[in-house]
Amino acid sequence: MTFHVLTLFPEMIREFCAHSIIGRAVKSEIVDIKPLNIRDFAVNKHGQVDDAPYGGGAGMVMMAQPIFDAYTSIAVQKNTPVIYLSPQGRILTQNRAKALSKEKEIILICGHYEGLDERVIEEIVTEEVSIGDYILTGGEPAACVLIDTVSRLIPGVLGKEESHQNESFSTNLLEYPHYTRPPVFRGREVPEVLLSGHHANIEKWRHEESLKRTKSKRPDIL
Ligand code: SAM
Repeated sequence: MTFHVLTLFPEMIREFCAHSIIGRAVKSEIVDIKPLNIRDFAVNKHGQVDDAPYGGGAGMVMMAQPIFDAYTSIAVQKNTPVIYLSPQGRILTQNRAKALSKEKEIILICGHYEGLDERVIEEIVTEEVSIGDYILTGGEPAACVLIDTVSRLIPGVLGKEESHQNESFSTNLLEYPHYTRPPVFRGREVPEVLLSGHHANIEKWRHEESLKRTKSKRPDIL
């Protein structure tokens, strides 16, 4: 899967994708990250990519032309999703991430300032995606969240020991609690069933714990 990321800060994307599981997926060429600097497509000699809003008011607006030119410089297949990371988009969910993980390529557009000139959104964007009901200074952290969430669902990205099968949101339940050594920590003991070696009982206990914590923490997803 290739992520083309249209951004004013390609280093933010590169740095994020150089570490941990995503860094490993990039090294093993399961995932390819191609940041594209929107400023490289500015036409005036000052590298201008934003301008004052028509109608007045505070803030600057990202100009349509450099973004459009950056987009047309990428040779992608028809129907490639073009996602504008935007607080006005549909909130990213595990289900949407699962569907996106089946794509061969995705184009991500990171906004800044007041956002993009509406006409470039109308012209090229197929979908707006938000990472939550709050405002970031720019789209790069949101792009990194999307890259991470989608990439880890691509076969081969997670090792066996990092499986996403039972994770929260992979079913309509939150995951059960986890414990590791030592068996007692500050007087708190690991639940006995987990030390029993009885797999059926462990499965049953985990399912019950999942139900219990979903009811108390996120009854809305049950
Ligand atoms: N003026 C815009 C509004 O009120 O809808 C907010 C612009 S925000 C300061 C700048 C950029 O950050 C946006 O263009 C978008 O790319 C990104 N951004 C901010 N919050 C986001 C969120 N919750 N999810 C995804 N992207 C976000």
